[in-house]
Amino acid sequence: MTLPRIKVLALGGTIATRPDASGAMQMGLGADDLVAAVPALATLAAIDAETVSRVGSHSLGFDQIHALAARIAALDVDGVIVTQGTDTLEETSFLLDLLLDRDIPVIVTAAMRNPALTSPDGPGNLLAAVRVACDPWVRAHARALGVMAVMLDEVYAASDVLKIHPTRLNAFASPQTGPLATLVEDRVVPLSLPVREAIVGARKRLGTIGGKAAPVALLWIALDEPGHLVEALMMAEDHLGYCGVVLGGLGGGHVPERAADLIMRLAGILPTVMSPRAGGGPMLRQTYGGPSSEIALRKAGLIWGGRLHPLKARVLLETCLRAGLGRDIIAEVFDAFG
Ligand code: ASP
Repeated sequence: MTLPRIKVLALGGTIATRPDASGAMQMGLGADDLVAAVPALATLAAIDAETVSRVGSHSLGFDQIHALAARIAALDVDGVIVTQGTDTLEETSFLLDLLLDRDIPVIVTAAMRNPALTSPDGPGNLLAAVRVACDPWVRAHARALGVMAVMLDEVYAASDVLKIHPTRLNAFASPQTGPLATLVEDRVVPLSLPVREAIVGARKRLGTIGGKAAPVALLWIALDEPGHLVEALMMAEDHLGYCGVVLGGLGGGHVPERAADLIMRLAGILPTVMSPRAGGGPMLRQTYGGPSSEIALRKAGLIWGGRLHPLKARVLLETCLRAGLGRDIIAEVFDAFG
């Protein structure tokens, strides 16, 4: 029996750290080291390992993930595993999901516990990721599943997975939808297929993305926010270098009344997406009246972010702007997310 050909691309992160002389963890391990630490991989797949970078995921950038997506798009393999840090996994995996349209499993995995600790989770997560990539159900549904994240024996959709704890082993979850599959013994047990119309629609609009970086500011709206940052963004000649804004809004899509006028004016100057600071879930569109309600904000031109978490909305807005989409098309792309 020929084993599936799996490419492991290592970017860095805690999974790839090792202690220096002082005991502090530093980036160091490459893809070959990660694979060598899990002998059982050889029984599942023909692995080809490649070290792409050795950086913490807090230092990854949009350009690097675009380059990674281009690399993955050109690979002649049966599945791809990306190893990286956990800090930005919820963003990088979603960006890969927006950029890739492949019918092979593409999985991002990582580790919460570094290799110097007792019972590190990196080897188990890598083994689980390869097991998922080789699973017949996953392979048959690869396009329908989109890019996945595998952490602690659960499989998540890139569009939904969130890092919900800074240090715990069980730091990942998809609070809105739950996992796509779970692992037990040596089996992958399917649970659900994601609803992907909005992502497929976004991809069609995005086309081939050749543009340059389009930084997006992420502003969390909170109790009594006066809007000074919004004003600074608006007034600065170059908008402080930002091309768009995502607001983590209150409740169903609200802002404090004292900041409403500034935020509405901002939406006339830069594409401004309202996204729920509650962490995702569809927002209201037509329930509350009043000067800072969702009805007023939508009328003033704020783009409604749908059910996307603000971090995912920021990734999607950067990608739309990089692709050169105008405000109205961007609003349509987001509208499909609910
Ligand atoms: N700071 C690390 C990173 O994201 C954390 C981790 O990998 O868990 O690269």
